[in-house]
Amino acid sequence: MTQELTPTIEAVTKLVQELNKLPGIGPKSAQRIAFYLLRTDEDQAKLLAEAILSVKQKTRLCSACFNVSETEICTICRNDQRDRTKICIVEQPQDILALEHTKKYSGLYHVLHGAISPTEGMGADDVRIKELMNRLQDGSVSEIILGTNTTLEGEQTAFYLQRLISPLGIKVTRLARGLPFGTELEYADDVTLTRAIEGRQEF
Ligand SMILES: [Zn+2]
Repeated sequence: MTQELTPTIEAVTKLVQELNKLPGIGPKSAQRIAFYLLRTDEDQAKLLAEAILSVKQKTRLCSACFNVSETEICTICRNDQRDRTKICIVEQPQDILALEHTKKYSGLYHVLHGAISPTEGMGADDVRIKELMNRLQDGSVSEIILGTNTTLEGEQTAFYLQRLISPLGIKVTRLARGLPFGTELEYADDVTLTRAIEGRQEF
């Protein structure tokens, strides 16, 4: 091994380490991507690097629903065609993508950015519940749809929210019918999600 090769190898190792931190990318895939990038031309690598940076620099969270947005208020919250009497509560912004894909829901959303999980030290104050309660102050919302995952944490969060919201006289429904236990919304297929939206039941 020559000396000038050492920095290159260090750079590759670093890239593999960083790629390995991404969800769903194991050490083998990380290595495969790193060597692919090594072979690719510089312009292509630049495009990828810029896309990664711009997603951090040009996006923020909507100040109303906490969805990912390029503006203070996201496109869903700004859309007059949406039914403002309904709010569907989800754990992550990608859950909105899955639900929007079904084209069966026209209300608003609220992203908690997590779920209550005592075992992982996640309490009600660690997710955006306080912000949700603020949104319900003006009495314009008549239905809350609990769209948290059907995992243990998602169910715990749904129960917590139901106890908190029902006393306000707002109808609380659960997006669960047809969704098997343990389902993460973002991985559910359109047909299942559509059934879950249309068949939502009072919780
Ligand atoms: Zn929004």
